[in-house]
Amino acid sequence: MADLFIKNGIVLTLNETREILDDGGVVITDREIEAVGPTDQLEAEYDADQTIDASGHAVLPGFIDAHVHVSDILVRGTGTSRELYDWIQNVKRPAVNEMTDEDHEIAAALFSQEAIQSGITTFVENASGAADGYPESVIERKFAAYEAAGMRNVYAYAFADTEPDPEHATFMEHFRRKEPEVTHVSPSETLTDTDEILADIESLIQTYHGSAAGRQSVWPAPYWTEIVTPEALLGAYELAEKYDVMTTTHTAESVDDEARRSQSSIEYLDNVGYLGERTLLGHCVVLSERDIRKLALTDTKIANNLKTNLALGDGIAPVPQLINYGVTVAVATDNTTANNAANMLSNMAFADLVQKGLHQDATIMTAEKVIEMATIDAARAIGREDDLGSIEPGKLADLVMIDLDYPHLTPNLHTPSTIVYQTQGFEVDTVICNGEIILEDRTVHGIDEEYPELRSDAATAAEAISERAGLTSIQQRPWQSRYK
Ligand code: FE
Repeated sequence: MADLFIKNGIVLTLNETREILDDGGVVITDREIEAVGPTDQLEAEYDADQTIDASGHAVLPGFIDAHVHVSDILVRGTGTSRELYDWIQNVKRPAVNEMTDEDHEIAAALFSQEAIQSGITTFVENASGAADGYPESVIERKFAAYEAAGMRNVYAYAFADTEPDPEHATFMEHFRRKEPEVTHVSPSETLTDTDEILADIESLIQTYHGSAAGRQSVWPAPYWTEIVTPEALLGAYELAEKYDVMTTTHTAESVDDEARRSQSSIEYLDNVGYLGERTLLGHCVVLSERDIRKLALTDTKIANNLKTNLALGDGIAPVPQLINYGVTVAVATDNTTANNAANMLSNMAFADLVQKGLHQDATIMTAEKVIEMATIDAARAIGREDDLGSIEPGKLADLVMIDLDYPHLTPNLHTPSTIVYQTQGFEVDTVICNGEIILEDRTVHGIDEEYPELRSDAATAAEAISERAGLTSIQQRPWQSRYK
């Protein structure tokens, strides 16, 4: 007896041949997909405890968000129209540095609810505080929220173990001077010892990796190429190898980052020995052709944080060129304060349309490729292509159902195009993760039960954080019709 039978859906399998079943079914037993095929065929072969009629729905693999910052969600909307380091120095770091353990849990619950409602079943959280990693008390509270939500999370423990070079420090100081009322955090206040932090991460992997019925993972995450030592990068890669996980860092995010360097970030990481199949690099906006070749050669993966890169004025990663070289690229929402939302479907549309406009070439991306970048390619990008990213027997049962019965989705003549160009995000009505229904009728029951006053709690927490971090004047800025 199977646990769950989803029938009558348009099933985008994302299997090897990218098969789409017009009247398809999926049989789920325990945590896994047991069978996929035409509804009538499966109906004759299987009995299930529960059946979901997916008529009028597209059924896809759960979306995988390959690069996320969760806690900042409580100050999103603050400091818009600021460039990267202005925003980091004057908004992000001051805010997260003032958050209590409870604030982090509220942020995690809010993020989970929003992410699941846009079809995200797995996310990689780049868990960076002011620059160092969060204490275990914060990790416990965040994991409690993710467990309640029922989604799959990778906790990429971020840290910094060296100061930025003096030129960059001056650059950051210049931005801090701009906002004297903000409670700033100097990067040197949050440095960690390389050996100690790697030992701490190893212990976290031993404690949490595979917890919550296998849904939770831990990776080592040197925060950002500029503020980690070669020893930390190599140590992180070795830990990833030892525990069969991945490692991730922020790389080549802005022109300023790259302009200061005598060698590109990619060349540097290559020389250090950090590039490789277990490395997922966030951003990679500013790349040379040579950098792209090195990424391809080493099978290094990329998280494309396009909406955040656009919002901060950083630029547009050369995703079509990366793909042409065979580099695996995943769509990611990145920072909820800069992107301003954890809406995977919106990010998928941007990932396609922005490249077409930039290159003045409508053939350069396709809806199909973007769906791959949110599912099977993203699974590969996080080292999980064997058990996530497609609807195939033996894979973990992570599925999204999108209701197509809306005026703006009618007619549905080409399902991949309908999903990428016409949805707005709210059409996701059912989500299954690890074989469990975690979104039903747009409701994340696990979060509603554990956090019944979530939105008012989040609003109250946000107000207090802003007060403590000195962000109130930024939030109450006068109307700005001109840029400066
Ligand atoms: Fe990031």
